Amino acid sequence: MLIVPEREIADLMTREAAFDAVEKVFAAMAAGDAYNFPVVREAIGHEDALYGFKGGFDQAGLTLGLKAGGYWPNNLERRGLINHQSTVFLFDPDTGKAKAMVGGNLLTALRTAAASSVSIKHLARKDAKVIGMIGAGHQATFQLRAALEQRSFEKVIGWNYHPEILPNIEKVANEAGVAFEAVELPGMLEADVIISITSAFAPSLMAGHVSPGTHVACMGTDTKGKQEVESAILAKASVFTDEVAQSISIGEAQHAVAEGLIAESDVAQLGAVINGTNSGRTSDDQITVFDGTGVGLQDLAVAASVVDLAVQKGIAIEVDF
Ligand code: NAD
Repeated sequence: MLIVPEREIADLMTREAAFDAVEKVFAAMAAGDAYNFPVVREAIGHEDALYGFKGGFDQAGLTLGLKAGGYWPNNLERRGLINHQSTVFLFDPDTGKAKAMVGGNLLTALRTAAASSVSIKHLARKDAKVIGMIGAGHQATFQLRAALEQRSFEKVIGWNYHPEILPNIEKVANEAGVAFEAVELPGMLEADVIISITSAFAPSLMAGHVSPGTHVACMGTDTKGKQEVESAILAKASVFTDEVAQSISIGEAQHAVAEGLIAESDVAQLGAVINGTNSGRTSDDQITVFDGTGVGLQDLAVAASVVDLAVQKGIAIEVDF
């Protein structure tokens, strides 16, 4: 079995490799060549932790495995560790034998950023110039860094519930040589692309804050009850997702569906757009939404990619297991 420790991931994995892996696996999911297993997520009654498994099998890429991990809210304060902790396990689909164990923390941020980037590539207007960020926490910096590579963005505008951490994303914009401006929510009307990546349980972005033609990537809502954008936005948009079952149960679409504003059949897979079986954006004034709920196959795809890179560079640790 091969081990790729968390400490090696930053030097191995690139945004480009994560993007390619996620784009391919979304396409495989829509083609019916890859599927996710039901998600297990439990409050374990210890350290207020949420722990679970996300797994799947990609028959096209021959990737089988799971990501185990979750959220320990006291880690940072008490132990100096990041609160999200995860590990990916890959298995040989021919034999079931354990194949690799890979640190999943940085990979989670990279695969989540890759998902919104893939949505921007396939759904945003080609002439998008202004990107709006709702959120400025850990994931937001990865999201912005990756998104800026998808179009010739000239300006980043940002809003955050806790404005004091907006400098986190201002720094990313500055490093990319793009102007940054902090705005109030109505200022998002200027954006051609909006990414929301918060842990909110009530909407911040309202329908009146979104201009025609905007692409909105909702990346924070991955649990029942969370919500970042007003359901009315989904009602007037063309809605795409990584996986429809997750979108309508734990994603942003859960609210629009529960309120009867949209039906399950109104939510399409982004992979179908990648494969060309769904035409995606069909006009410049259409609002598109990507409901990125985060699927196990994304984790497996980036983990498999990093194992290949680790083997190529002689960094993978081989153990007899
Ligand atoms: P974080 O704690 O670093 O940042 C949280 C962000 O949410 C901050 O910008 C904070 O100001 C904002 N926020 C907090 N309370 C809010 C409120 N009431 N209203 C509006 N904004 C509020 O967390 P993170 O690691 O950046 O993760 C952000 C979210 O992304 C989490 O909900 C996490 O579960 C989710 N996530 C999703 C995926 C996916 O695949 N879709 C992957 C990883 C994380």
